[in-house]
Amino acid sequence: MSRRFCLAALTVWALTAATAWAEPPLKALIVDGQNNHNWRETTPVLKSQLEETGRFAVDVATSPPRGEDMSGFQPDFAAYDVVVLNYTDVGGGDRWPEATERALEEYVGGGGGLVSYHAAGSAFPHWDEYNKMIGIGGWGGRNERHGPYVYWEDGRVVRDDSPGPGGSHAGQHPFDVVIRQADHPITRGLPERIPHGPDELFARFRGPAENLTVLATAYSLPDRGGSGRHEPMLMTVQYGEGRVFQTMLGHGVPQLASPAFQVTFQRGTEWAATGKVTQPVPDDLPAAED
Ligand code: ZN
Repeated sequence: MSRRFCLAALTVWALTAATAWAEPPLKALIVDGQNNHNWRETTPVLKSQLEETGRFAVDVATSPPRGEDMSGFQPDFAAYDVVVLNYTDVGGGDRWPEATERALEEYVGGGGGLVSYHAAGSAFPHWDEYNKMIGIGGWGGRNERHGPYVYWEDGRVVRDDSPGPGGSHAGQHPFDVVIRQADHPITRGLPERIPHGPDELFARFRGPAENLTVLATAYSLPDRGGSGRHEPMLMTVQYGEGRVFQTMLGHGVPQLASPAFQVTFQRGTEWAATGKVTQPVPDDLPAAED
């Protein structure tokens, strides 16, 4: 065998091996442009947190400003493995065009991944299929017509049909995120309680809650204006063939710096994209005492 042939064979082997080892990045799309939160500050942080994992290539689709023509706002959801919503029409924003609503339904229902981040849990109360995708939501006139309140009590999820408005939060305070479903790709290996905040602790969410799994909760303090319930903080929904991850955490940039936000957002987004999580749990993740 000639030296030249050996080198050529070695090169082919090395290229093949490198291709096998380096998984292609997942394509993620962050959608923003209108929000009653500061999307201009949070989107770059969300983007860099995903990129830091080495698993994602991230694009951003920014809608026209409030009150301007939205008819041309039609992101190509189907070109992505996962769509992250940093958008809400509630609190002074605009709905999407109907064609864009249908496109998201087809994308997620057909097997796409969706992440509802913080204020996106308030978005689109008028849109039945969106309410099914996120499972439960808050504000925007949500009430018993949207579905039951969902919370955690005595080791299980409670669906409570009592009438009343959906969505509230007290002033910001620190709280623990408590893992309730440890045998899920997103939560596997995480500490049982992870300190977080100060952040808004969303409470009294309600919705269709179909195919909903509550992964983690936090206790909403009654003496701080909270519900006195263990409220869902991290959830998944199976919508058609698609996977949805909802995180209630992360009001603004300071809250996004919390390891509890970051690790669950990174893992939840990968799971929404693929149904698996390949990221290792960081060694230095803080754990709270009982
Ligand atoms: Zn907020």
